[in-house]
Amino acid sequence: MSTMRGVGIGLGVAQGPVARMAEPLAAPEDAASTLTPEEESARVREAVAAVARELEARGEQAGGAARDVLEAQAMMAEDPTLDDEISTRVQAGKTGEFAVHDAFASFRDTLAAMGGYLGERAADLDDVAQRVIARLRGLPAPGVPDPGHPFVLVAKDLAPADTALLDLDKVLALITSDGGPTSHTAILAREKSIVAIVGATDAVNLTDGQTVIVDAAQGIVTTDPSADELAKAQERAEARRAAADAPITPGALSDGTAIPLLANLGKPGGAQEAVELGAEGVGLFRTEFLFLSASHAPTIEEQRTSYTELLQAFPGKKVVVRALDAGADKPLAFLNDAHEENPALGLRGLRALRASEDILREQLTALAEADAVTDADLWVMAPMVSNVEETDYFVSMAHEHGIKTAGVMVEVPSSALMADRILQTADFASIGTNDLTQYTMAADRLLGSVASFQDPWHPAVLKLVKATADGGAKNGKPVGICGEAAADPLLAVVLVGLGATSLSMAPTALADVRATLLTHSLDDARRIADAALAADDAATARAAAQAAAAPKENQQ
Ligand code: PEP
Ligand code: MG
Repeated sequence: MSTMRGVGIGLGVAQGPVARMAEPLAAPEDAASTLTPEEESARVREAVAAVARELEARGEQAGGAARDVLEAQAMMAEDPTLDDEISTRVQAGKTGEFAVHDAFASFRDTLAAMGGYLGERAADLDDVAQRVIARLRGLPAPGVPDPGHPFVLVAKDLAPADTALLDLDKVLALITSDGGPTSHTAILAREKSIVAIVGATDAVNLTDGQTVIVDAAQGIVTTDPSADELAKAQERAEARRAAADAPITPGALSDGTAIPLLANLGKPGGAQEAVELGAEGVGLFRTEFLFLSASHAPTIEEQRTSYTELLQAFPGKKVVVRALDAGADKPLAFLNDAHEENPALGLRGLRALRASEDILREQLTALAEADAVTDADLWVMAPMVSNVEETDYFVSMAHEHGIKTAGVMVEVPSSALMADRILQTADFASIGTNDLTQYTMAADRLLGSVASFQDPWHPAVLKLVKATADGGAKNGKPVGICGEAAADPLLAVVLVGLGATSLSMAPTALADVRATLLTHSLDDARRIADAALAADDAATARAAAQAAAAPKENQQ
């Protein structure tokens, strides 16, 4: 038995034999074409168009987020800049295959050099190039293997076109050696609840037929496991299935302490699924979707329509909307300065909104108008608040616009440390553990190479959560959690033990968290949190919490 690490997506565990994705096509040689440039161009144009149409058709078949991803890929294939690059090479006498390979490669390098979200799109471009070259050679596009039995798919990185149509009866889990937590493989695996580990660099050593356990909750792949390990993994997988089938009840601990379980949403369209999965409201509505594809801010009317649609889905329920959070991982051309050297430390979140106050005022106006015509309990919060003065600014501005409940996100250590003062003014706080971890550990949340530092189990992060919750308790104000940490069932118990009053997460995580909360009392949660707080690092905090949470008969 041995183990390898990567970034787990979701909380599932699965086991089975490995089947590797076929190796990519060999790169075409730089040979002179025997055809005229016009003939080569015609071949390439036909191939590019056919690949683009095929990607669109796959998107149509898959639906959901996969459709958006595949449509974006189809657009990449027909990008005019790429077309020019290919033509230049064909005109110089190159074969269509080489021209496509070379032009895509240079475009890919440009994207990869940008790093972050755009860097992770580089793999999507490789896939398009492979498909076009395969078509030019009259070969089938490289794709998912079919060993004739269920398998754990291992690949360098999966193309969206492959992930979108995975046969979930056959693919037990996914492991990629490349890709980070925001790669398309990760996004689609999350959406389809596929057990997945990305960025497991050692996965290149896995061989066809080898048995593995894929433990996404821990980010660990165990190769050639013992019978005992296989049985334990099986038990965990069954417990998860049982949790998913358990009746939906309001979030609560075993002693009846209510811990509302809320949904993180990125578009009003996600509301229905969240309600079906038992979300008791919305703990984080990210409004960036309205702005990210635009070259200017949407109008008040456009915003009001979206917010109204969202609020209508939650009559009588709490809905926490976050003001636009632009910058760093979510750059907006009309709000952020592209020349900042460290955008994560730059004019982002509330700082960027203050610099363009009209946008903030319009957003608050649209929210207040939507609130006036719906029955949800609207709360509005500011992103990336780092001090008391910013809190006072935002809360008074929101109240002035008719927002009744105005709060702040605690994502910066300074705010956690000043929470008792911040919560004198703010009506509530919501802890964004993704950024709070990034800033506490000085580890870029988009960078695979420092992913091991980006672990919210670190006691330094937990101490800041406690400081924030204490600040809330002192002022009688609620402190929720809306970062990914709330979706980890045991960490959710710890967060409650530290004083969090509600938990918000991707709707697909609600069932696991609900089931785990029901197995611990508030006293248990406090004891488990204390065990984690006393640890030296993230791994020992997790282990200490696991030991403290184990049923009494298993404890020494
Ligand atoms: C966070 O930082 O934890 C958070 C919830 O906000 P986002 O992930 O959108 O930055
Ligand atoms: Mg954040």
